[in-house]
Amino acid sequence: MALSRKKKAALKVQRPESKARSMPKLFPSQANDGQKIVVCGAGGFIGGHLVKKLLNDGHAVRAVDKKPQSLWYQRSGQAENLTLDLENHDHCIQAVNGADFVYNLAADMGGMGFIELNKGLCMLSVLINTHLLMAARHCGVSRFFYASSACVYAGYKQKTTDNPGLCEADAYPADPEDGYGWEKLFSERMCRHFREDFGVEARVARYHNVYGPHGTYDGGREKAPAAICRKVIQAKLSGKREIEIWGDGEQTRSFMYIDDCIFGTEAITNSDITYPINLGSAEMVSINRLVDIVEEIAGIKLKRSYNLSAPKGVRGRSSDNTQLRKELGWEPSIRLHTGLERTYAWIYDEIASGHSKRSVVNVA
Ligand code: NAD
Repeated sequence: MALSRKKKAALKVQRPESKARSMPKLFPSQANDGQKIVVCGAGGFIGGHLVKKLLNDGHAVRAVDKKPQSLWYQRSGQAENLTLDLENHDHCIQAVNGADFVYNLAADMGGMGFIELNKGLCMLSVLINTHLLMAARHCGVSRFFYASSACVYAGYKQKTTDNPGLCEADAYPADPEDGYGWEKLFSERMCRHFREDFGVEARVARYHNVYGPHGTYDGGREKAPAAICRKVIQAKLSGKREIEIWGDGEQTRSFMYIDDCIFGTEAITNSDITYPINLGSAEMVSINRLVDIVEEIAGIKLKRSYNLSAPKGVRGRSSDNTQLRKELGWEPSIRLHTGLERTYAWIYDEIASGHSKRSVVNVA
């Protein structure tokens, strides 16, 4: 279903304009418009934040995850919370039935340490998106969002630390991250063909490393920003002033703060962008620089050791946001230092208060 003229106009008027702001403005609200929105993977990091934002905007939200609800990172009694395994087609029908919008943020995933060692598990997420697309078609969903990843980009484009930024065309000829990246690339194409052949209005964003409070910070699935925050906090609390870094620390990445991710996700979902588009920060740093920033925030300096045999991924990666700026007049702009301050503070509280197995937050 195409967006109404009114919604398009709202989108144009309320686009954030400058990089000066530290937080994105709220996406044009469709509050109280009676839409039913389903968030799949709602018990996870990004899904939990999206549910909270949608509820705050007044939407009716169905939140779905396979984890028991006591383990969801954020959970609200205002949402209809369902525990379903979305690899299963019938569960997908149950999840999607009666919905206008579906956000697919459900996947078996983690940071480099997880995806390099669990390729088969990562590929099984293809069942989730396949069955959700089939269910969306069956139930007549008007808009479908799929969370893809920068891991779809060709490895041969990411061999140096001074990566100028990956643009959308750099996904082909295909050479994605083995396992996780291939699943994302396949699912992107499935979204495209379900749109072209069956009229499922699918939108796809390629997320580049998302971080923030309520993300995974231990257990093996955590990504670099949360892992570095945790290690620095543990060093601070234990007095053992050492840190292990995976690789030589010169590999480069960009990291997107969760508020930018949620804003961009809604904007892309509500847009007419029918091709997979980058959603990431263009602020590229080395992992050594990332550690510098977290040390600054913590007010300590640690002795670094480098584990050269640990999983480290590609050599250099960042997001080229030319298309995003062209399409939305906006790009992620929350500075890494700002986002890390908030993330560090949250992880510090978690660890210092003994919630090292994560605390469940009941929103509203
Ligand atoms: P997350 O692991 O925190 O959340 C994913 C959620 O999906 C989990 O709660 C998990 O229980 C749920 N899930 C897994 N299998 C399921 C199933 N069969 N049925 C129902 N639920 C299931 O991950 P996240 O960081 O919130 O990522 C959300 C999406 O964004 C994923 O598709 C991920 O691949 C993508 N992505 C994330 C990042 C990032 O940096 N976080 C980067 C690129 C892409």
